[in-house]
Amino acid sequence: MKNFLKTIVLAAIMLISASLTPTVARNPKLKALIISGQNNHNWQVSHRVLKLILEQSSMFEADILLTPSKGGDMRKFNPQFEEYDVVVLDYNGDRWSKATDEAFLQYVKRGGGVVVYHAADNAFADWEEFNKIIALGGWEGRNEKSGPYYYLVDGKPVLDNTAGTGGSHGAQREYPMHCRNAKHPITKGLPDGWKHGRDEMYDRMRGPANIKDLLYSGFADAKRGGSGREEPLIFTVDYGKARIFHIMLGHCGPTPENNPAMQCAGFQTLLLRGAEWAATGKVKQAVPSDFPTANECRFRMDYMPPRN
Ligand code: ZN
Repeated sequence: MKNFLKTIVLAAIMLISASLTPTVARNPKLKALIISGQNNHNWQVSHRVLKLILEQSSMFEADILLTPSKGGDMRKFNPQFEEYDVVVLDYNGDRWSKATDEAFLQYVKRGGGVVVYHAADNAFADWEEFNKIIALGGWEGRNEKSGPYYYLVDGKPVLDNTAGTGGSHGAQREYPMHCRNAKHPITKGLPDGWKHGRDEMYDRMRGPANIKDLLYSGFADAKRGGSGREEPLIFTVDYGKARIFHIMLGHCGPTPENNPAMQCAGFQTLLLRGAEWAATGKVKQAVPSDFPTANECRFRMDYMPPRN
């Protein structure tokens, strides 16, 4: 009888505690903040496409925050960085307010996740801390004072302090990507080489060059106006506890429908894997069935990932 009573009481306690447990979503979505609003690129299209790619993966919920336009009052731009798992930078324009600079640095220094996308690495040439967050940048007056050039010779990094401007690119084209670290969570399981859709290839970038893990490089063919060097294109950045993913790919086309660099399944896959890693330190997504091969570009014309 004693045992029977004990069982009843235990069952009652379990029932009550179950009813008190709040309902938790099984797979809560990661929260991304896309920052845009000024850029020498077609930011009006790129920020919407970034949101589409992130959200169609079903992994992210992405908010967009636009800065005031050029010359506007930056005091009105106050992102709540701490509310997000990852901040995606699609911004190249006026300097933010001191308060926003400070809030961004605090978010990053506390171990925040950041994705540096394409021309976001042109921004803020004179902001020393920002340049450490991106590791390499281009244009906007960058030169030998910004830091060395970084490129590969026989697969090994060379830091080159030769004087000269930072940032250039040859003609847009399709080009092969070369994997430099197949063990990183972002690259694990992806093929060693893959062909990227028509895009710019940034070269002669300069900066503190505090690259943590170089993931992909590409050869900037001098015959097509490139540097003639093997250039770093996708990497993570060594910056304290922060998880920073820098992807130089993705020059935005005139419309979402005519945007091969961002319609490339390879670009989308790397963006998503990099964003997941920046948000969580892990990559759980499977390699998609439409990932480009070494010789063949693959495109998602409507940005829809395949149903694996
Ligand atoms: Zn571009």
